[in-house]
Amino acid sequence: MLQISNLSKTYPNGVQALKDVSLTISNGMFGLLGPNGAGKSSLMRTIATLQDADTGTITFNGINVLTQKQELRKTLGYLPQEFGVYPRVSAEEMLHYIARLKGITNDKERKELVKALLEQVNLYNHRNKFLGGYSGGMKQRFGIAQALIGDPKLIIVDEPTAGLDPAERLRFNNLLSEIGENIVVILSTHIVEDVSELCNDMAIIAGGKVVQRGVPQEMLNAF
Ligand code: ADP
Ligand code: ADP
Repeated sequence: MLQISNLSKTYPNGVQALKDVSLTISNGMFGLLGPNGAGKSSLMRTIATLQDADTGTITFNGINVLTQKQELRKTLGYLPQEFGVYPRVSAEEMLHYIARLKGITNDKERKELVKALLEQVNLYNHRNKFLGGYSGGMKQRFGIAQALIGDPKLIIVDEPTAGLDPAERLRFNNLLSEIGENIVVILSTHIVEDVSELCNDMAIIAGGKVVQRGVPQEMLNAF
């Protein structure tokens, strides 16, 4: 369970991106819906230990996210909004590299894991291609494979379908829907359908504040 309490953040330029945000998020797929500039990425980056808040606390399964950053990172899979790839590395090489960094040093174990991940995200046939040649949708699916290494219990996906065409969006969402139910997955998006199709729980954020909280089937009827 992820517990966010009274989180606030003002950037040095004076923009107050988060205003007293409190959310309790259980296992399953959680949708954070809001327009551009609402504060979604600020919240995602803070949970992912990439930036600090001014006030407030975040805990995940007993880990104090804001102070025990290394602990949290061991159990985190993060797909950032603007997700860059090394253009002249293949998907397979990159997954091996990350798996080694995450401590999977046994060659046989790592090979099996990388193969399973490439199959899971439907990129096995493209495993030897340089990432620089991947389409937007392929990159996002590769990002999911990368985020799944190390068996994370918390996965954060920030605006993953924003630049995708409808077919790739569907492919990507199908992939997300297959990720385990026994972990917390947070999907940040401005696309209502992403939340209504995938999530069992949601919040709407606007102007740095949580303005609505509830079940997508009930909240999104008005859209
Ligand atoms: P969203 O992800 O919902 O689009 P963001 O968290 O990116 O929202 O942005 C929330 C507000 O904070 C916006 O007004 C944005 O311009 C501002 N902002 C985001 N990051 C920074 C930053 N590093 N420095 C200053 N302002 C920022
Ligand atoms: P598979 O389903 O076996 O992985 P596909 O050829 O169906 O292989 O490709 C999967 C996805 O990758 C499709 O969305 C396809 O449009 C896209 N794709 C395949 N090859 C390329 C390429 N060279 N450049 C950009 N997109 C590609």
